Amino acid sequence: MIRYNDALKKVKNEFNKLKLKNEKVELLNSINRILAEDIYADTDQPKFTNSAMDGYAINYVKGINEWNIIGEISAGGFKNYRVKPGEAVLIMTGSRIPSGANTVIPVEDIIIERGKIKYLINRPLIKGMNIRYRGEDIKKGTLIIKKGTVLKSNNITLAASCGKSSIKVIKKLKIGVIATGNELVDINIIPKEDKIRASNLYSMLTAVSEMNMEPVTFGIIEDNKEKIKKSLTNALSTGIDILLTTGGVSAGKYDYLNNIFKESGIKIIFSKVNIKPGKPIVFGVYNKNGKRVLVFGLPGNPVSCYVNFILFVRNVIMDSLSMNGISNIKAVLNVTLKKKDNKRHFVRGILNNKDGINYVSPVGSQSSANIGGLNKANALIVFEENKKILKRGSKAECIMI
Ligand code: AMP
Ligand code: MG
Repeated sequence: MIRYNDALKKVKNEFNKLKLKNEKVELLNSINRILAEDIYADTDQPKFTNSAMDGYAINYVKGINEWNIIGEISAGGFKNYRVKPGEAVLIMTGSRIPSGANTVIPVEDIIIERGKIKYLINRPLIKGMNIRYRGEDIKKGTLIIKKGTVLKSNNITLAASCGKSSIKVIKKLKIGVIATGNELVDINIIPKEDKIRASNLYSMLTAVSEMNMEPVTFGIIEDNKEKIKKSLTNALSTGIDILLTTGGVSAGKYDYLNNIFKESGIKIIFSKVNIKPGKPIVFGVYNKNGKRVLVFGLPGNPVSCYVNFILFVRNVIMDSLSMNGISNIKAVLNVTLKKKDNKRHFVRGILNNKDGINYVSPVGSQSSANIGGLNKANALIVFEENKKILKRGSKAECIMI
């Protein structure tokens, strides 16, 4: 059985062979998209030397404490006064500084007496105060937003101020989902007798949306070889980049997926990984006329299915596209964890930060069918193959979900 690290490498290797496309979108539509170009500053920021306060722009000379008001400048209403010592121009925040002026006294710090301003405050007037110099924030030509950045609204101010009205982003990956199982009904139906709601279909589709990729549903298919094959062939022909199936990859009589993959021309890269939960995962690649589709046969157990998605789909995509956002976090274990086998376990846990230190505790039963714990968890605690015990108080690596 393949080890986790080797399986992950194989998935990354195949992911990197996918030909990702770029597209231009308007800045307003770029939010949460992955930047496919480096963005450079097209101007200095600020673009011109300006006032940081509403106040009076003066030509500072030591010893002069009174100034004649010679005019005013508002933001966007520049007038090129030549300010001499003893003169002041009323100026608003963001207004360009006139020549000669080198200091701004805030309006709150002065009094006006007989048409002259006087400095009120007892602390010294400092030459250069309240001036924002051209380029002091960012110099023209600086790399401001890196390729691979998932654009957030805090990036938009700078992009907009550099005039990026359209932005090159990675085209959303299309990720299809097929749920298989005779026992499955859709979630708006009350399941009778031994039926259950096909929750995986929804968890997978929304997990795809959560990454801001494009989910495509191919619905629920019963455990019938021909029907599954037909659905698979159809899904593979629709231009999707990745296909996820759920159910039917274990050792049961009706677990057909592995064989159906092969019969449908999917090259199996691995089946079964030495992990818990999620051991039965099958990974293959379909390649027709140069169009590659990565195919993941995920187990039906909802926790296995979800954990597999996080490990092999989400993390591979985010890592390969250098997307910011995920990182493994070390956290102090609140309890001792034990295991008997040599698998790598991913223990559902709750991680929280107290006084600047991360702590993590396992949550709920760790059965791969138990969705109560998954519902509460925000992290997967990594319990390596060769370890049998992770001691309370030691630090464990956690994958945030
Ligand atoms: P399988 O992998 O097909 O052997 O299914 C393993 C377990 O997962 C069984 O208890 C199934 O009923 C359950 N299961 C399969 N598909 C789904 C699904 N789409 N949503 C929720 N549970 C499922
Ligand atoms: Mg099944």
